[in-house]
Amino acid sequence: MSDTGAGDGTVQHLFQNTIVRPKCFTHTCAMPPPAPAPSTVAIAVAPNGGRRLKKDHPAVPLTAMEMARTAAACLEAGAAMLHMHVRDSNGRHLLDAEAYAEALAVVRAATGRKLFLQITTESLGTYRPREQMAVVRSVRPEGVSLALRELVPSAAAESAFAKFLGWLKSAQIMPQFILYNPAELDRLDELCRRGLVPWEEPPVLIVLGRYTLGQTSAPEDLAPFFSAGHRRFAHTMVCAFGRNEAACAVAGAQAGADVRVGFENNLHLPDGRIAADNAALVRATARALIADGHKLASAEQLRARWELQR
Ligand SMILES: [Zn+2]
Repeated sequence: MSDTGAGDGTVQHLFQNTIVRPKCFTHTCAMPPPAPAPSTVAIAVAPNGGRRLKKDHPAVPLTAMEMARTAAACLEAGAAMLHMHVRDSNGRHLLDAEAYAEALAVVRAATGRKLFLQITTESLGTYRPREQMAVVRSVRPEGVSLALRELVPSAAAESAFAKFLGWLKSAQIMPQFILYNPAELDRLDELCRRGLVPWEEPPVLIVLGRYTLGQTSAPEDLAPFFSAGHRRFAHTMVCAFGRNEAACAVAGAQAGADVRVGFENNLHLPDGRIAADNAALVRATARALIADGHKLASAEQLRARWELQR
């Protein structure tokens, strides 16, 4: 398999045979119809995550000003969306309303409305659901990522979670549900069917691989999520760990998904070298997507797609 996956026969084969199939209305067909492919592919950048420090890479943005410079460079490289973590003065993961407000203001000043700005609620083992939801209520960001396994770990948490989602909807804050395995895809679908999720097509982020040292995702990791019996959410984004990030992005785009790249999950260019910065990863992914025949979405196009459901 090539580094970028562009024009890769293996990837094409995977999706032609396991994912993209015609609708079947006349027979009892186990394979759900494919989600309509978006006309353009949005690249989101997750430039820092909650773990990597300057010792891991000097260009990991940790302060608000560094985040703003990174955001501007990634926008220039082709990004339409930013997934943001903030850190404390020691570089540790932080869910803090003031820190988020400052970072969002500085990034907005640098990029205007040209990036869809999403904050994370990820716990990283530090925060509880009540605290994760409280920070969103204070910050009122444009978008927020929600790890289903963290925020609704059991049936007992469903009621508070549903109330929170109702508030997000009323505040016009768009969530993106982080899903680590096909079982979580099913869980979100079940919550939707039971009326607990007030969007017809909630945006989801499929994570290929897990938060394990040395984890390297592969385009084939997509297949279980898109196999028979699982709902195809219309607004699906894909992210991956390690040097196959761009190849996974191309495979995701071929399956009708948007893509997320960046230092949160990967430091390597498709050729295996360490990227100079996040913008270099965005640029490499943009090149691979364009070479594979895709057009890049702007933030406005992404908003139009997602906000139609409000
Ligand atoms: Zn994150």
